[in-house]
Amino acid sequence: MDKPLGHAVLQKNYMRLQFPSRSENESLARVAVAAFVAELDPTLEQLTELKTAVSEAVTNAIIHGYEDAVGEVRIACAIHGGSVEVIVEDDGVGIEDVELARQPLYTSRPDLERSGMGITIMENFVDELVIDSAPGRGTRVRMRKIIHRDPECQ
Ligand code: ATP
Ligand code: MG
Repeated sequence: MDKPLGHAVLQKNYMRLQFPSRSENESLARVAVAAFVAELDPTLEQLTELKTAVSEAVTNAIIHGYEDAVGEVRIACAIHGGSVEVIVEDDGVGIEDVELARQPLYTSRPDLERSGMGITIMENFVDELVIDSAPGRGTRVRMRKIIHRDPECQ
């Protein structure tokens, strides 16, 4: 019997999570993404790198995106072949100059003793990092990490 259109798409695993920007929820995000990617059987190092990158993105959404307010943070994960894609999104203040924000050691909040290394850490720990943001329009961080280069050889 012919498979209905979209069958292949539905076979890909995905997961969505949304939560208020409370700092307690940062660990929830790390654990959820780690559990989701388990089916790809990552090494401990890959898992630690992915969790750290997610944690940096979520922390940024909480402390920079919403500052003192509480808003919604959304995470979407998907597995494509041997890679995992994670999107961390907020509807907060947004970033005026994304290129500047990506510079190592740049922080807009030295008063909070931030070191300006979160985005640099993400860049080092994932294979692709795209940041879409505009003032007043929130921030969307999309990362892709390759777990198996050739998914046929898992
Ligand atoms: P650290 O991560 O080392 O504690 P940091 O958060 O300031 O310090 P990065 O994570 O590299 O450093 O982010 C750099 C800057 O980009 C931030 O200081 C902030 O101005 C801006 N930024 C990052 N994410 C967001 C976001 N979700 N919403 C608004 N601004 C953001
Ligand atoms: Mg940061």
